[in-house]
Amino acid sequence: MGLTGRAALVTGGGSGIGRGIALRLAHDGANVAVLDRDGAAACAVAAEVGAIGRRGVAVDGDVADTASVTRAVADARAALGPLLVLVNAAGISGFAPLADMTDAQWDGMIAVHLRGTFVCTRAVLPDMLAGGSGRVVNISSVGGLRGGPMLTHYAAAKAGVLGFTKALAIEVGGRGITVNAIAPGLVDTPMLRASGMSPALLEQATRQMPVGRLGTPEDIAAACAFLVSDEAAWFTGQVLSPNGGGHL
Ligand code: NAD
Repeated sequence: MGLTGRAALVTGGGSGIGRGIALRLAHDGANVAVLDRDGAAACAVAAEVGAIGRRGVAVDGDVADTASVTRAVADARAALGPLLVLVNAAGISGFAPLADMTDAQWDGMIAVHLRGTFVCTRAVLPDMLAGGSGRVVNISSVGGLRGGPMLTHYAAAKAGVLGFTKALAIEVGGRGITVNAIAPGLVDTPMLRASGMSPALLEQATRQMPVGRLGTPEDIAAACAFLVSDEAAWFTGQVLSPNGGGHL
């Protein structure tokens, strides 16, 4: 998709969808900073980026923590130059019925997904404004489009990400910057496997998908590769939902 020489930062790039996106962007020519709170995982993916022949750099950070993000983004910029592509993919899972949900469960979910998207985008946006071009892609979820049982905190955070995406798209559309979201259905990642969904429930969910399989990180990375490409210049404030037809 022709990203040669562009610097990208992918949050949550150490695993699953973020890792798939980091590697795809590298294949398409980008140098990639992998931001993750799991430093070892970020280093491993940065090395994979290097093996593709691009510059890969691991930056340790917690997306919900402003000081940590400021440091991580400065390190990424120092290593790769101005960051003109940002993918906000860091995330956590968790199920809780609302009546039993603790403040900590609610706040933790909102902090990583919604505050994290805000903090990271705010940190990177000055590079894009100065360069007069940029691509922001926020990973939401089908959960943010239609909700789900025991997922009020996750659904609220992911729906919030969609509102954030649209508002920022309007705000910076005249500055050469596009802001879009991807709302995946069920994707086979370490998060999904650790989510507590039983194999029977996963199989049932898969059967209900017209395409008949779970998504892969590569499926989501393909959508992201398009949205960050020059060809997607007229896409902004949009939500792409690769979901195997599971949500129509
Ligand atoms: P994953 O657990 O495989 O990867 C998430 C990564 O984010 C991990 O490397 C983790 O260390 C990192 N991370 C978590 N909290 C962080 C923080 N505070 N700061 C920095 N890094 C942090 O999960 P995944 O399934 O690849 O999910 C990636 C994104 O896709 C998430 O936002 C998730 O909500 C979303 N999503 C996943 C699915 C799915 O079915 N897997 C579906 C829809 C949306």
